[in-house]
Amino acid sequence: MSMMKGVSDRWLLGLLLAMCAVVGGFMYGFYGYSMDQSAARQAAEFETAIRLELEQKASKFADGAQKLERDVGFLASVPPIAGIARALDNKGLDAQESTPLDLWRERLEAIYQAYLAADDQLFQVRLIGNQDGAREIVRVQRQADRIAVVPKADLQRKGGRDYVIRAQTLPSGAVYLSPVTLNRELGQIEQPERPTLRAVTPVDNARGKSYGLVVINFDVGGFLSELAKVNDPAVSIYLTNPGGDYLLHPQAGQAFAFERDAAARRWQDDFLPLPDSRLTQGNSFHRFRATATGKTYLVAERSIPLGSFQPDSSLNLRLLLPEEVFMARVSAGARPQLLTAFMASLIIAAALLGMYLRLMFVRNMEAEQQREMLETAIDSLQCGMAMADRKGILQRVNRALCEAFGYTESELLGQSVELLLPEEKREQHALLRQTFTATQPVVLGGGAPVFGRRRDGSAVPLQIGLVNIRVGGQSYVLASVLDLSQRFAYEEALSAQNAELELRTAEAESASRAKSSFLTNMSHEIRTPLHGIMGLATILQRKLDDPIARELLGKLMSAATHMQDVLNNVLDLARIESGKLTLSIRPLSTQALFDKLQSICGVAAANKGLNLRIEQALPEMLQGDVVHLLQMLVNLVGNAIKFTEQGEVSVVATASADGPTLWRVHLLVADTGIGMTEAQQARIFEAFEQADGSTTRRYGGSGLGLAITRRLARMMDGDVTVASTPGEGSRFTVDLCLPAYLPADGQPPA
Ligand code: ADP
Repeated sequence: MSMMKGVSDRWLLGLLLAMCAVVGGFMYGFYGYSMDQSAARQAAEFETAIRLELEQKASKFADGAQKLERDVGFLASVPPIAGIARALDNKGLDAQESTPLDLWRERLEAIYQAYLAADDQLFQVRLIGNQDGAREIVRVQRQADRIAVVPKADLQRKGGRDYVIRAQTLPSGAVYLSPVTLNRELGQIEQPERPTLRAVTPVDNARGKSYGLVVINFDVGGFLSELAKVNDPAVSIYLTNPGGDYLLHPQAGQAFAFERDAAARRWQDDFLPLPDSRLTQGNSFHRFRATATGKTYLVAERSIPLGSFQPDSSLNLRLLLPEEVFMARVSAGARPQLLTAFMASLIIAAALLGMYLRLMFVRNMEAEQQREMLETAIDSLQCGMAMADRKGILQRVNRALCEAFGYTESELLGQSVELLLPEEKREQHALLRQTFTATQPVVLGGGAPVFGRRRDGSAVPLQIGLVNIRVGGQSYVLASVLDLSQRFAYEEALSAQNAELELRTAEAESASRAKSSFLTNMSHEIRTPLHGIMGLATILQRKLDDPIARELLGKLMSAATHMQDVLNNVLDLARIESGKLTLSIRPLSTQALFDKLQSICGVAAANKGLNLRIEQALPEMLQGDVVHLLQMLVNLVGNAIKFTEQGEVSVVATASADGPTLWRVHLLVADTGIGMTEAQQARIFEAFEQADGSTTRRYGGSGLGLAITRRLARMMDGDVTVASTPGEGSRFTVDLCLPAYLPADGQPPA
């Protein structure tokens, strides 16, 4: 049982550990999941915010550029443009409108002035001719707070400028948006620096041939400073042109550095792309490492197309967030979930622990109860119990054992079991003990008592059973010890009692024998004078003639005869009881037996007017004591006649063979006389007993006949029984065993 408990304990612990592992795994998984979720959410939030910001900024920029495109188209289509073309073709006079060139120019200047006034980010509008090194034809510009028309003499040649060269190749109606650069005047960067975007479109003459360009200079300084504003202080913003030159940079002086220094650093010099991480995968961020600091940034990027005619030349707007800042925010965001996971795990672990402790508690209680039950049972055993380890050291003893040897439990535990043996046996026992391996109980001494030694040195008779047992992987010898001292004492008392009884019986028997022999002797002594009395009375009867004297003598004779009967009976009984009567077994003729019965009893029956009926179906010849058989029959039939006034007395004899040499003889004597009660029937076979006290007075008799009959029947291996009903009659049954007559015996029948 303890083994089972051990197994299930281990199982339980395993289960608990497994559950803890599951909880741990769950926690870890949840942590990871939570982190991932949080990171993904943070990334998504960051991306959304950045993207929104990017979109807003980029579309503002793109809107501005688009408006510029539209505006330049409009400014290239106003009537003075065609008028100037016609005037230039016709030596300064527009023949169609009869308008000189200068008038057209004035009109154009007026239009451009009005245009500039509408938007203070516009700072220059020009018409540049293709002729004369691309000399400006009209130029209106913002100077401080006013809009000025540049006098003819100050108009410049723009032939080498990049945007002029590019625009001259454009088809009619197309618009070129120049890269954003610092505005230059007369080849020098204008101070204060003015980042400029130019929109340029060619203008045609009447023949459909390009004769010049309309150029709008747009100051993007405002846009850029708008772009540079970010809500998140950790976010930095970069704007580059298609070549990677900085138009916007968090560090002062870095923006437009390429204008001042051809070797200025560009985006691709400062930031190297890194592979996506788990977090940047699946969103629009990219990772870059700053070459100067080694710091990693998450970068959201948006390109801003510059005009619908140059899909390839767009600006790049980038918002950067240091990855460490991002990670810190992610884990900060993840913390609440982590706490929840931790709390949940704590609760689950506490619940598991609670369950485990409860289970342990219940189990311990059960185990304790079981143990107590066992202890009580073992201690209550009447049989002594001892358990010793392989070295013979007593590990457990019960109360009965302690009592048998007169020790207390604490005196025995830890002692060698040899302590309980007589000194002369100890050494031998210690040797034998080591070879004892029986796993089935063995009774020492084959059941004969063996002797132990009590604490007081006295010997105690014992019956000892031994067996090897295994408990918790250890081997022990378990002994059951039955203290036989009480049984010994009891047996001694019993044999003393028996001896006493035997003595008494012998005494009684000798007394009885003395009584019988006294009776026999007495009877003989009485019989001799009685015979004398009877003989003398017979002589006297012959000699006397006086009738009165003869009658008196007759009564004397009858009294003497009765006395002789009683005397004979007493003698018989005494002889039987003293063992002096022996049966003389001889061949007998059954017919002769019953004939004698008829002759003895027939007269008495006839005198009383009774019918004596004898039916016998016995084998013709048997063996037996004919005298005593006849005595039994005469006793029974005589009683039947004596106690019957009318009706009949019947004798029925049958026999059955019991093997080849024996007959079971059954004699039934029945009458229709006075019968007996049950109580009377119970007494009549005892000597000197009669059915009731008045019998002697009424019927005479000594009360010895049936006693003798039963004793004789028992001597013949049989018995006599009676069945009777008062007033109706009695039935006496005699069962006997008689040897079969074997003619080879050759003896003549009795
Ligand atoms: P007794 O010499 O007195 O007849 P028995 O031993 O022969 O002594 O009988 C004992 C008593 O049993 C008788 O006294 C009588 O009371 C009773 N008894 C015996 N035989 C009969 C019978 N056939 N019918 C009634 N009573 C009987």
